[in-house]
Amino acid sequence: MSNRENADVLIVGAGPAALFAIFQLGIYGFRCHLVDRLDRAGGQCAVLYPDKPIYDVPGFPETCGGALTELLMRQAAPCEPRFTLGRAAVELACEADGTWEVGLDDGTRLRAGGVILATGIGMFDIPPGGAVEAAELVPGPAAQWPLERSRGGIRVDPATFETARKGLFAIGDACDYPGKLKLILSGFHEAALATQQMRRHLSGGKRSSVEYSTTSRRVRQRLGRD
Ligand SMILES: Cc1cc2nc3c(=O)[nH]c(=O)nc-3n(C[C@H](O)[C@H](O)[C@H](O)COP(=O)(O)OP(=O)(O)OC[C@H]3O[C@@H](n4cnc5c(N)ncnc54)[C@H](O)[C@@H]3O)c2cc1C
Repeated sequence: MSNRENADVLIVGAGPAALFAIFQLGIYGFRCHLVDRLDRAGGQCAVLYPDKPIYDVPGFPETCGGALTELLMRQAAPCEPRFTLGRAAVELACEADGTWEVGLDDGTRLRAGGVILATGIGMFDIPPGGAVEAAELVPGPAAQWPLERSRGGIRVDPATFETARKGLFAIGDACDYPGKLKLILSGFHEAALATQQMRRHLSGGKRSSVEYSTTSRRVRQRLGRD
């Protein structure tokens, strides 16, 4: 990564899939900028069911939405993500040079080499003190973006999680492919594969191998562990 001011990757949505993508990109030296319409990170887990027990995250016999979000944020922290919260992404465009531009609802325009749509079930509102059942889905602008869709999700290649547009990816509840499960663990898998392909995209098609913190000093340094 060349410039610490500009992000390499823009992520729309800051739910669990997006938070894990920060870490996956960060260990390879890429920096992310996340935008979420909500005033906090964590998506459905943090807002719709922060205290409900979750039993199906591998390695955690029991956790809950709030605790999982906190751990994902801690895991992502060494990768120095930037967050713009309380703002919706309303426009998405690919520029002539292949970079992507995302327009926010306050007129801000953000540019990056690649975009990950981690928009989940879309934008939602929950009245203060309201219950999960009171949550209302707000038809988000992402639904209008000209992307191929299947079963309401953004159609992706399940090997790379790239859409039909180069440099544009979709992960988590936002994407669809044969066998898609709307679960947190699926979002983590999708983030891992999407970020490998994003890495290739950002390095001009160069193939790179997986690096483990056990064997890669560079990875340990990026995580502040060496
Ligand atoms: C009550 C309930 C219980 C659940 N229990 C479990 C469980 O036990 N185990 C399990 O695995 N899964 C469970 N799930 C499902 C799980 O929460 C989802 O699969 C997971 O949250 C999807 O994560 P995500 O990152 O894809 O998206 P989300 O968590 O949906 O996050 C997407 C984010 O994108 C933002 N966004 C959308 N559009 C825009 C835009 N245009 N601009 C800016 N921001 C935008 C939204 O504000 C949101 O914060 C449950 C879901 C619910 C509702």
